[in-house]
Amino acid sequence: MQSIYWVITRACTQKCAHCYISAGPDEESLSEPEVEQIVRNFPEKASQIILAGGEVLLVKSLLYKALDTLYSRFGKNTRYMIQTNGDLLDERTVEELLGHNVSRIDISSIDAFHNNRKSLGHLNEIMNSKAVRYLEFPRFVDEDGNIPLAAYSFWGSTPDLWLGGVWPRGRALENGLWKRNPSHNFCGIWSGALGFLDNDSPQQEINVRLSHAYPCCPATKIPLGDLREKSLLDILDEHRGNHVYEALNRGRPETMGVEQGISVEFAKARIEELGSCCLWCDEFLEKYSQTPHQSMC
Ligand code: SF4
Ligand code: SF4
Repeated sequence: MQSIYWVITRACTQKCAHCYISAGPDEESLSEPEVEQIVRNFPEKASQIILAGGEVLLVKSLLYKALDTLYSRFGKNTRYMIQTNGDLLDERTVEELLGHNVSRIDISSIDAFHNNRKSLGHLNEIMNSKAVRYLEFPRFVDEDGNIPLAAYSFWGSTPDLWLGGVWPRGRALENGLWKRNPSHNFCGIWSGALGFLDNDSPQQEINVRLSHAYPCCPATKIPLGDLREKSLLDILDEHRGNHVYEALNRGRPETMGVEQGISVEFAKARIEELGSCCLWCDEFLEKYSQTPHQSMC
C-alpha cells in the first residue's frame, strides 16, 4: 500500500471555524490498546504512514505509542510522517519525534483560518536547531534528488493547493466556509478516492479516522469498515467489485448510481445544485445505496 493517512485524535489546541473534522480541546482520541489493534490490521507493507489529528502533539504519549508500534511492525521500510499545527513544537519535541523515527513534519496550519501560537520564523529556528531540512511543499526530495533523513514543510487550507479550497465537512459545512465549486472533482485527485482499491498503485491512499477506514480524506458518509474488527485488506476486498465503490475508485462520483438507474446527467445536475461532488456522494450513500456496511459514522 502506498499511503495510510491516520487521524489518531480529534483533540486539538485550536478550534478552527473551518475544521473538517470538528476537532477541539475536548474531543476524543484512540486508546493505546486500540492503536495496537489497528496497527495489527494494517497491511504487511505501507510506503508511508502519516499521523495526524486534531493535534497529534497534544496527545504525545499516544503519538509515540503509535509511532513505536508502527516501527516494530514495519521497520525502516516505511516513511513515518506527522502533520501538526505547530503550536506545541519546540526543540525537545522535534528531537523526540526524530527519535521515534519521524522523517517528515508537515506544519499544515499556514492559512487565514488558524490562530497559530508560533511564527514561521520561530518554527524555522526550531527545525534548523535540529538540522531538519526545509522542503517546499509538496516536495519530498532535495535539489540533488535525495530524500533528506528529516524534513519539514509548511502548507495550509489555501485555494492554490490541490485541495482546491475548504471541503464541505465538519465546522466548515456548519459555518458556510467551504468552497462551493461543483466543477472541482476532488474525488479524482490525490486525497480523493481515486485508486483507493488499487493495491500497490502509487495513487492508493486510505484515510483512517480513529478506527474507521475511508476511501478519501473528506470521508464518505459511511465508513468502509472498522479496523478494530477487521484487516484493512479484508475491508477493501469487501468493496472491490461493488459498482458504487468502483466508481469512486475511478474518481467518478457522478457514475455511482449508473447500475441502479441513476443517470450521470442526474448526478451532475445534483452536484451543480449541491455545489460539491462530495455532497452528492453523501446524498447518494444516504438515499440510494445498499453498501456492504449499514452503520453510519
Ligand atoms: S483545522 Fe487543524 S488546528 Fe484547526 S481545529 Fe482542526 S485540526 Fe485543529
Ligand atoms: S466524492 Fe465521496 S469518495 Fe469522492 S472524495 Fe468526495 S466524499 Fe470522498
